[in-house]
Amino acid sequence: MKRVLITGAAGFLGSHLCDRFYQEGYDLIAMDNLITGSMKNIEHLVDKDRFEFVNHDVSKFIKVDGNLDYILHFASPASPIDYLKIPIQTLKVGSLGTHNLLGLAKAKKATILVASTSEVYGDPLVHPQNEEYFGNVNPIGPRGVYDEAKRFQESMTMAYHRFHSLDTRIVRIFNTYGPRMRLNDGRVLPAFIGQSLRGEDLTIFGDGSQTRSFCYVDDLIDGIYKLLNTDYSGPVNIGNPDEVSISEFAKEIVKLTGTKQKVIYKPLPENDPLKRQPNIKKAKSLLNWQPKVSRSEGLKLTYEYFTSLSQEDLYKKEHNNFETYIKY
Ligand code: UDP
Repeated sequence: MKRVLITGAAGFLGSHLCDRFYQEGYDLIAMDNLITGSMKNIEHLVDKDRFEFVNHDVSKFIKVDGNLDYILHFASPASPIDYLKIPIQTLKVGSLGTHNLLGLAKAKKATILVASTSEVYGDPLVHPQNEEYFGNVNPIGPRGVYDEAKRFQESMTMAYHRFHSLDTRIVRIFNTYGPRMRLNDGRVLPAFIGQSLRGEDLTIFGDGSQTRSFCYVDDLIDGIYKLLNTDYSGPVNIGNPDEVSISEFAKEIVKLTGTKQKVIYKPLPENDPLKRQPNIKKAKSLLNWQPKVSRSEGLKLTYEYFTSLSQEDLYKKEHNNFETYIKY
């Protein structure tokens, strides 16, 4: 049986990856330090035979007994609010954590796939963004801790590939949404849905003309699964090219949730990218992959998930474990 280590396993994407690899028959080691992740996301798996949960911070030495065929490195805070709260941990998990996992992959002769991000393109001057574009990142801005950690992660992964002939994959993930997102991480979709559920006004940052392109989580997971099953070591964009302005997106959420609240405007955060749209030519030709779920369909599924949660679970979605984390 193939054995896979998934880091960030209790997070939004990590937990969906756990589901997919469990369904595909893998033996899973799910690792998370539960700072931004939640056991709730994987509670349906914890008692299963082929599933083991390990509470560990991958920035520290990682010990895994037995063989490993694959490592999927998805541990990292992934929203601007999180990086502002835990900037040093964000830098460490992308750099030291990646280094530890590359070392582990080398020791186990495992294939490693690392989760990179459209943030490596920064506030892009090329539109839509293709993999050849080097990006426009401010290393010392508030997003720099994430962007530069991810850029370093890609660099380190390529170095292990070239120098140690390690079997590696890099996925550049564009904005993704779906069930299990946290309501309090500041991302626009959970922000708008949370505001609608609480009867608050919807907050648009800036004038709402900035764009994003949102991919439903099932499509993303499918792209990642396909990428792992190639032998392509270069970065591959996975995302949905259907681009929308944030003000248009707010209208869609108002329609979906039926909220009677108004839209209010707040200042645009520093270095907030003005445009973002993936060029997915490479994923199409290499993986024969493209997103299947439309935004209206995906938003409906996501809203249904949030409205199906109990009050207690909704509360938990709005609070996390930062306070239990030892800062250093
Ligand atoms: N945004 C917004 N209102 C909110 C939260 C976010 O207008 O309550 C904007 C944010 O400024 C950005 C876009 O929505 O332009 C997407 O933000 P998100 O944090 O979801 O993703 P990222 O900026 O990392 O792509």
